[in-house]
Amino acid sequence: MKSITFPIRYHSTNRNLPREEVHPTVAFSDALFKGLALDGGLFMPDRIPTLSPDELTALTGKPYSEVAYSVLHKYLQTEIDGDDLKKIVTAAYDFDIPIERLDEQTHIMRLDQGPTASFKDFGARFMARMMAHLRPDEQEVTVLVATSGDTGSAVGEAYHGLDGFCVFILYPRDEVSTIQKQQLDSIGDNVEAVAVDGKFDDCQRLVKKAFTDSDLAGFNLTSANSINIGRLLPQIVYYVYATINTSEYPQPVIFSIPSGNFGNCLGCELARRMGLPMGRIIIAVNENDEFPRFLQTGVYEKVDPSRACLSNAMNVGNPSNLARYFDLYGGILTKDGTINVPPDMKAMRERFTSTSVSDDATVALIKEMYEEKGILVEPHGAVGLEALRRFREQGDTTPAICLETAHPGKFSNILEEILHIEIAPPESFRKFSHRKNHADRLDNNYASFKDYLIENS
Ligand SMILES: *Cc1c(COP(=O)(O)O)cnc(C)c1O
Repeated sequence: MKSITFPIRYHSTNRNLPREEVHPTVAFSDALFKGLALDGGLFMPDRIPTLSPDELTALTGKPYSEVAYSVLHKYLQTEIDGDDLKKIVTAAYDFDIPIERLDEQTHIMRLDQGPTASFKDFGARFMARMMAHLRPDEQEVTVLVATSGDTGSAVGEAYHGLDGFCVFILYPRDEVSTIQKQQLDSIGDNVEAVAVDGKFDDCQRLVKKAFTDSDLAGFNLTSANSINIGRLLPQIVYYVYATINTSEYPQPVIFSIPSGNFGNCLGCELARRMGLPMGRIIIAVNENDEFPRFLQTGVYEKVDPSRACLSNAMNVGNPSNLARYFDLYGGILTKDGTINVPPDMKAMRERFTSTSVSDDATVALIKEMYEEKGILVEPHGAVGLEALRRFREQGDTTPAICLETAHPGKFSNILEEILHIEIAPPESFRKFSHRKNHADRLDNNYASFKDYLIENS
């Protein structure tokens, strides 16, 4: 008997798409190109497919691209031909994913070997290829992305030279590192860097506003931010890959995840729901502590303006993807951070631990890791390791995997100051040291941004 596979559809986290205008759920390709739902909410799959223990075991020891295929095929089998999906994941994931043992109970997974040396490459490279595959012929697409550093370069590199795509990367002028700025400003061609006189949250506000502006409807705007479902799905894969490839499998493991906009840790929660054996998820944040406070008190107060910390890709005071957590736990959170329906706090507290790590504690951890173990971590990874260390102090000995989300060489200025050693840039950075740099400058003002877009698209 032939089994019928129903497509997975996507609903808005606001759960109030106007029914007279659109069907209340959309197909993957609509969610991919629209980025945000019409009501301003984020798209979520209306069901989460599962991987059986046998399927998981069969993937043990297999190359990353095979794991990626098996996980993503579950979501996309009605959207893309299996062979095409295979080609996409093989091309997207052509770099190493090292998993190193730190001590008896702890591994560190390095997601920093891609072309822009942060985990953002995992989402961006898949999303760009899926969009190129699903783009209707002759339709020019304008990609808008707000970045606190790493997203912009990952997205820019992923779309660089792709036919039919024009990309604008907005970043906070004074909050990215020298290397990050060089990475962003040097991509060129169809990728324009825009230095905004504001913070990351301001960049994000400008981008979000453009999406709801009907005057810009003709530009086929699409978002490449971590809110895009096309980035979220591939971020499930490395949790599966890591879990089945440590010697503890099939025992449950804990993940500790340095988090900002919460897209990465959401991949972990989806992986758990797909059937991975998993203990707690530790959501590690810097001094932007809105989420740990929320878990404790049930009251959500965003940090506005967000605090500038060493782990600058995590300087987010109101994480967009939090709305998706609310959705998974039966709540509704608006994009301004208002709770319309409270989530199941009890269930959330059972699943998640969240800890805020100060810059001082981040620096101390970086020193300790280097001086005692000879292991180099950068500020984002350090926040995750410190959060795990604090969790362990409560006596939990479940095996854990910490994510290192960027290459230490990307933060060599900070690390050299802390450790007094010389740190080489990531291998992949050689190529843009020869490239020309250019960025357009923009006020933190929607009217100027809109004029700029109309002139330059
Ligand atoms: C983006 C980023 C993070 C935060 O990830 P989110 O998905 O936004 O939570 C952490 N570390 C690095 C290096 C990043 O680039």
